[in-house]
Amino acid sequence: MNRKFIVLSLVVILSLAVFAGCTTKQEEVTESKDNKEEVVNLYTDRHYDTDEELYEMFTKETGVKVNVVKGDADELTERLAREGKDTEADMLITADAGRLYRAKDKGLLQAVSSEILSDNIPKNLRDENNEWFGLTIRGRVIVYSKDRVNPSELSTYEDLTNPKWKGKILVRSSSNIYNQSLLASFITINGEEKAKEWAQGIVGNMVREPQGNDRAQATAVVAGEGDIAIMNTYYVGKMLNSSNPEEVKVAKNVGVFFPNQEGAGTHINVSGAGVAKHAKNKDNAIKLVEFLSSEKAQKQFAEGNYEYPVNAKVEPSDLLKSWGEFKTQNINLSKLGEYNSKAMELFNQVDWK
Ligand code: FE
Repeated sequence: MNRKFIVLSLVVILSLAVFAGCTTKQEEVTESKDNKEEVVNLYTDRHYDTDEELYEMFTKETGVKVNVVKGDADELTERLAREGKDTEADMLITADAGRLYRAKDKGLLQAVSSEILSDNIPKNLRDENNEWFGLTIRGRVIVYSKDRVNPSELSTYEDLTNPKWKGKILVRSSSNIYNQSLLASFITINGEEKAKEWAQGIVGNMVREPQGNDRAQATAVVAGEGDIAIMNTYYVGKMLNSSNPEEVKVAKNVGVFFPNQEGAGTHINVSGAGVAKHAKNKDNAIKLVEFLSSEKAQKQFAEGNYEYPVNAKVEPSDLLKSWGEFKTQNINLSKLGEYNSKAMELFNQVDWK
């Protein structure tokens, strides 16, 4: 081999090496782009350790990190609206179909088509346009004093307007969404006039002008102020498992009664999720909702707040099972949002504070 050939060969080899180097660098850039951290940004009004555990499980399974912003439901919805298309939020989780409907109505959510969600979540527990999905169920039930009321005296929500309960009923203010959704369900099932009569009858039988939250009504029952409270099931679970012995005592002294079992069923509501209209990580948000509806996640998700799973393949917790099975209202929960303002109007007319 002559010297010239060797030099030429070296030049060729070097050029190839440089070229190869360039290619490698380019590949690295593309690769690192593919490897960018997958995330989903979630706004939620739930604040339970079990939820955090589920997000960790989800990250382990999918590699998608969950960034959680916690806050009050109305604040988070307003924030989402204010941020518009610049929002970081990919997904909203909040309690009450009335609030989920409100978020949809403000154009903050988007339709999602997912066979997994259609399979896991009954039709009446999700938005008609699949803009939100119920994930856990709560009942709004009759809670009674075990000392003074025999459950055989109880039957329906309507019966609570009977004069025999005069001065015995405790229930929170009508400014609360749970009561608005309850009345909206009666408007859906029985019509506006009957719903108004019901609200009027309850006002006539109230122990006192509404004050305090759901738990405060149970506390007043056990303090002997009244015999009956209308409240959400999970508060009884929370009080039974409370670190405050006073709450435990209250919960042990009340019974849970599921009304309207011969008729339209007991009023239920959900906490649920929707994918944000301007989600930057839409696929990851859908993945997370699907995960939360899965059999594996449902039990834990529901138990975090002593709620019932939406996924029919999953059984409720032992505490909830001990209260017995019950027939639920069979209406699409979107109706609770649709009739929300009508319900507020009726409450005003009958002077339910
Ligand atoms: Fe609540």
